[in-house]
Formats: sequence, C-alpha cells, structure tokens
Amino acid sequence: MVSHIDDYSNYDALVVGAGFAGSVVARELAERANKKVLIIEQRSHIGGNAYDELDSSGVLIHAYGPHIFHTNSQRAYEYLSRFTAWRDYQHEVLADVHGTYTPVPFNLNSIELHFDEDKATALKDKLVSTFGADTKVPIIELRSQDDPLLSELADFVYQNVFLYYTQKQWGLAPEEVDPSVTARVPVLAGRDNRYFQDTYQGMPLDGYTKLFENMLDHPNIEVLTGCDAHEVLLFLAAGDTPPNAPFTKILAGGTPFEGEIIYTGPLDFLCAKRFGMLPYRSLDFVYKQLDEKHVLPCGTVNYTVSEDYTRITEYTWLTGQDLDHTTIMEEYPRAFADEPGQVPYYAILNDENRAHYERYLALFSELPTFHALGRLAEYRYFNMDQIVERALALADELCANELCTNEPCAK
Ligand code: FAD
Ligand code: UDP
Repeated sequence: MVSHIDDYSNYDALVVGAGFAGSVVARELAERANKKVLIIEQRSHIGGNAYDELDSSGVLIHAYGPHIFHTNSQRAYEYLSRFTAWRDYQHEVLADVHGTYTPVPFNLNSIELHFDEDKATALKDKLVSTFGADTKVPIIELRSQDDPLLSELADFVYQNVFLYYTQKQWGLAPEEVDPSVTARVPVLAGRDNRYFQDTYQGMPLDGYTKLFENMLDHPNIEVLTGCDAHEVLLFLAAGDTPPNAPFTKILAGGTPFEGEIIYTGPLDFLCAKRFGMLPYRSLDFVYKQLDEKHVLPCGTVNYTVSEDYTRITEYTWLTGQDLDHTTIMEEYPRAFADEPGQVPYYAILNDENRAHYERYLALFSELPTFHALGRLAEYRYFNMDQIVERALALADELCANELCTNEPCAK
C-alpha cells in the first residue's frame, strides 16, 4: 500500500477500483506485460464488493452482500485458483412461502410441497414433457404458455416466488424488469435443490479479501486506498466545447498521463453526472449476532411473500465455521439516491437507461487508452466470474499490444 503519489508518470497504468475487474487487470498487466501499475481505491480496503472481514464475534461476513462463487468458465476458475484454495460449498436457497421452506429455483421438489399428490404429478409431468428434464424455464416464458396446467404452475410461482420479492428488490413488477434479471432464477424441471448448477462452485478457503491480497501481491503493483479517482484524474475536451464533446486528454495529478487507464467505477460519477445520474438500486444491510449454532436451515432464505427485507443470509453456512454462535444479515433494497454511505449496487437494465449510459461512454470514444470495465463502469449485471473473464480478455488485448504471450514476460 502507498499513502501518497508525487508523480503519476512513474506508472504505466492506472487502475481505478480494487474489485475483481481492477485487480485482475492490474495483476495481468504487472505480470504479463511487466507494467508498473497503480490501483486507486476510494474505500479503505481492497476487494470491491466481494470484500469480507471478521465481525466482532469472529464470523467471516461479506460487507457488501453475500458472494458465492460459481462458474462454468474453466479459465476464470483456474485463474482465481492461483490465488486461493476453495472450500467446497454448494449454495442452497429456500423461499419462505407462507411458512413453508421451498427450494428456489422452484423445482419438482418445490411442486410437491405445495400441491396435493395428484396435482403435483400432473404439473411435474407437464413441466418435464413440455420443456425436457432438468431444463431451466424463465418465469416469463412459463407464464406465456397456453396450457392450463402450465398456467396454473406459472401463476403459483409468479405469485409466491417472484412478485413480492421483485417488487421489493426493484420497485417494479417482474414483467417490468429486464427479462434477463428474473431469468437468473428460473423454474427448474428437475430436482437439483442448489441455487446454481455451474461446474465450479465454492468459497475462497481463507475468504475473498485474502484472495485479493494474494492477487495484488506483486512487485509491479501499488495500491492507494482512501483515494477517489476524482482527486487524481481530469478529463479534458478540446477547446471551449459543448457537454457532449468527447474528451481528448487525460491528466493525472495535474500532468498529462499517456498510459492505460482502467476505470471500474460508475461512469456517470466520473463525468460529474453531467447528463444526470444513471439509475441504480442500493441495499441496506442489517446484521444480527445470535447465540445459536444456526438459525436458518441453509445459507440463504428468501422472503417472497412477507417481510420488508428480500433475504437473510447466515454466513456460517457459507464459511463452514464451526461456532456456537452465528451472524445473519437482512437485505433491504432501496432506490439509490447518492446519499452518504449509499452504494450503487445494481444497474437498472432497460433501453432508456442503456441509452443514457451510452451518452457517457461516448465521451471517452476518442481516448484509446481509457477502458471502462466492470459491473458499474459497464452498467451491466455481471457475476464475479463474468468480471474475471472480461478482465482477462481486456488484459489479453492490452498484453497483445505489448507483444507478450500468456506467460509472464519481460517487456
Ligand atoms: P466492484 O466490486 O464494485 O469494485 C469496484 C471498485 O471501484 C470498488 O471497490 C469501488 O470502491 C471502487 N471505485 C468506484 N469508484 C471509484 C472512484 N471514483 N475512485 C476510486 N475507487 C472507486 N457475484 C457472484 O458471482 N456471486 C454472488 O453471489 C454475488 N452476490 C452479489 C450480491 C450483491 C448484493 C451484489 C451487489 C453483487 C453480487 N455479485 C455476486 C456481483 C459481484 O459483486 C460483482 O460481479 C463484482 O463485485 C464486480 O466487480 P467489479 O470490480 O466490477 O466491481
Ligand atoms: N427473484 C425473485 N424471487 C426469488 C429470487 C429471485 O423474484 O426468490 C428475482 C428478483 O427479481 C431478483 C432476480 O430474480 O432480482 C435475480 O435474483 P438473484 O438471486 O440472481 O439476485 P442477486 O443475487 O443478484 O441479487
């Protein structure tokens, strides 16, 4: 860690944000292209939203919401495995549906919990024969079916799993959110009770923060925490130009910076919100420490028909810590209003917001050394593994320019 930078021109690349996007690119540039990299992070710690820490009772909690690693990408998995061993953990989620703990994604086991035997058999047979065994069916697609049995099932799942939860999470009905959002949690024509079916699943054995410490432990990487990029970077357009004129010059610490800039924060904030703030959803977290080994039956319970919070996560299920006490966390969704301490966790996906975002992105179109990368900077809904893949892809591009191979190399 460094505490003060006198001369930014000592660095080949500046990375804004020490989450997965920034940290992976930093490591790759440092290692494969022998670039000297400075990471600028506004928070007091590395890890971005995946940051974890011990709470006062010794439970490893995730400070920005529960993070479970899952992927089908061998590259992302193997890459992260350089920096952590894994605890085998297969996440399960139960929805509290009027007091009945129900597997989510809603599956054949869930059907049996909510319908009498004859009806359950008919619904299961119809679901499997229509879509195929183990197929994942988005609720929007299930609702569009004409068949009376499938309509009955769709109505039940919509009312008892999706409607209230989605209203809480987004302030919108399920049909008003982008279909890709609810499709993340489909109806499953099978009996797998796990939340994810990916090939690789688990939790970093010593936590995410340790994973990041290992990733950033490289002689070419320095990290400046507690520093907002706005204090360092200035983007200038040529002459006396209108607000939508593209930037043509970057200053770092007051002097021109010619190296690569990888920016992983919100793009609208980088431009002083000149076209108005992009819409985001935020969350408030409420932690409770309890003198019981476990209070939930699994890692997460979703409250799909009751309560103001969407879900409760019990961290000791995720970490496997064997304690006689536990810590749970409730999630309360909020509209993001840029209040002190509020975090813009989720982009709100729709055409209007995308167009709004593109206006910001266009401001950087004439700066080939500027790269917007990550969940905030790209205004997308990416999981951790997708971010790792995108960061590796960008690093491939940048390292190719340096005539490097996939192996560590000297410039
Ligand atoms: P971030 O982790 O947000 O990192 C960006 C960093 O940039 C932050 O540290 C921020 O402080 C810093 N920054 C921003 N602006 C500035 C600035 N101006 N100056 C300096 N620094 C700045 N994914 C999964 O795969 N599995 C899960 O179970 C999962 N659960 C999630 C639960 C919640 C509640 C949320 C919100 C997300 C979850 N995700 C999950 C998604 C995961 O958090 C993201 O994919 C991942 O963290 C994105 O990494 P990133 O580097 O793009 O962004
Ligand atoms: N969802 C729901 N009920 C559930 C679980 C999910 O309605 O029990 C919907 C909701 O709209 C949510 C989306 O599916 O925002 C995606 O859920 P996911 O668990 O992937 O959300 P995340 O973990 O990213 O917050």
